[in-house]
Amino acid sequence: MVVMKFGGTSVKDREAIARLAAIVAREQARTGTPVVVVSAMSGITDQLLDAVAAVERGDAPGAAQKVTVMRDRHRAAAEALLTRGDVRDEVIDALERQWRDTAQILHAMAVLREVSPRSRDAVVAMGELASSQLVAAALTELGTPARFVDARTVLVTSADHGMAQPDQASTAARLHERVLPLVREGLVPVLGGFIGATADGITTTLGRGGSDYSASLFGAGLKAAEIQIWTDVDGMLTADPRVVQGARPLPSLSFAEASELAYFGAKVLHPSTIAPAVTDGIPVRILNSHRPEVAGTTITANPPLPEAPLTGLACKRDITVVDIRSTMMLAAYGFMRRVFEVFERHRTSVDVITTSEVSVSITIEDRRAIEGIVADLSAFAEVGVENEMALLCAVGERLRLEAGLAARVLGALDEFPLRMVSQAGARRNLTVVLPQAQLQAAMARVHERFCLEPAPVPEAVA
Ligand code: ASP
Ligand code: MG
Repeated sequence: MVVMKFGGTSVKDREAIARLAAIVAREQARTGTPVVVVSAMSGITDQLLDAVAAVERGDAPGAAQKVTVMRDRHRAAAEALLTRGDVRDEVIDALERQWRDTAQILHAMAVLREVSPRSRDAVVAMGELASSQLVAAALTELGTPARFVDARTVLVTSADHGMAQPDQASTAARLHERVLPLVREGLVPVLGGFIGATADGITTTLGRGGSDYSASLFGAGLKAAEIQIWTDVDGMLTADPRVVQGARPLPSLSFAEASELAYFGAKVLHPSTIAPAVTDGIPVRILNSHRPEVAGTTITANPPLPEAPLTGLACKRDITVVDIRSTMMLAAYGFMRRVFEVFERHRTSVDVITTSEVSVSITIEDRRAIEGIVADLSAFAEVGVENEMALLCAVGERLRLEAGLAARVLGALDEFPLRMVSQAGARRNLTVVLPQAQLQAAMARVHERFCLEPAPVPEAVA
C-alpha cells in the first residue's frame, strides 16, 4: 500500500483537486487502494494564524472577515467540484458548519481576549479538516470512492500544542482500527495532515509543514510500501536553480544527504519529518502533481552511490562570521563554554564552527543580537565581525568514502578567498564560508566539476 501526501498547492483549488483525483485513480489501478493525506489549501494555515493574531490584537471583526474569505474559497471549490446533489449539499453543509464553528471559537477568544496554544490549535486545525473533507468528496464524485477520516481520531499526540509529539504506538493501533478496514474495502481514506489530538481528544498540531510528518507517521504505522510527497516541483535538484544554471534533478539520495542539503538549502521538505518512514526502511518519493509522469526524487536510507562525485550543493547568503581570539591562557579549559554561553544567552543559533588553538570562528544567520554578543565576548576575547558572507555546502556520500575528494573540491576553489572550511566527523559534507559576492561563481565552479561529471572509474585492484 502507498501513502500519498498532497501539499497545499496540490489542493489549492478545483483544478488542483481534479489533478489530485486523476493521480490517485492511477495509483489505485497500479498498486491498489492508497491512503491519502492532505495539507490545508495553500495559504489557509497562514490566514487562520492571521485570524488568531487579529483576535489577539482585539480585532474581532478582522478575524470574522478572514473566516468569511476562507469559507467562500472552500465553498467555491466544493460547488465547482461536486455536482451530485446529495453529496454536494452534505459537504457544503459540513464545511459551512465548520467555518461557523471557527468563527464562534474566534469570537469566544476575542471576548476573553485570551489566546492559548490550545485554542490556537483548535482554530489552525480547521484548514486540514476542511481540505480533507472536500478532497474525499471530490474523489468519490470523480470516480474513486473515498472516505473522510478525521485525523484527530487517528494521530495521537502529546499535549505540546503547536509542536505536539506523536505517540507512534497508539497511532499505529488507531490506523489499524480506523484506516485499514477502509483500504480493505477499496475506499480511499483521506486524512488531514498536521493535525492530531491528545489521548483524551484535545486537538493538537505538529508544527508548520507538519503534513509531511503525518504522512510519514501513517506510512510507518501502516507499513506502507512507499510514501509519496506530491508537491509543485520535480523533486530535489543538485543545486538551487536560481543560483546555479544547469542544476539537474536528483533521482535518488540518502536520507543523510537530504538532511544536509535541506539544512542550508531551499526546502522541498524537512527531512526530519520523514524520519519515521526512513527508519522503517520505507522509501519516500517527492513528485510533482503538475507533471506526474516525472520520476521525481526517491529518498531512502542507503541508495546506490550516484554517478557524480558530489550529490548536491546547498548555500546560504547573508551570513555573519564572528571571529573570537582568546585573551585568556591559550589552552584554558572552559573557553568554549563561555563562548557558547554568550550565543545561548542572546538566543542566537550558530551554524558553522571552526577552531584553532587560539581562535574560534562562528557563523550566524540572525544578526539581531550582534551588538550584545560582541560586547559580552569582548569581556574575555578579541572579537571581529564580518558581514555579507555566504556559506557553500557540498554534500555527498562519496566524500566519506573517497579520500582526496574533499581536497579536490577545495582545489577547485583555489582562487576564492575561503574564510572558513569545515568537515564534520560524518564527512558527508564539506562546508566553506566565503564572501557573498563570490558565492555564485564558486557554486557554478563546484557544480560543473563535481555534480555533473561521472565519477572516474576506480582502477582495478591487481
Ligand atoms: N498546513 C500546514 C502548514 O501550512 C501543514 C502543512 O502544510 O504541512 O504549515
Ligand atoms: Mg510542506
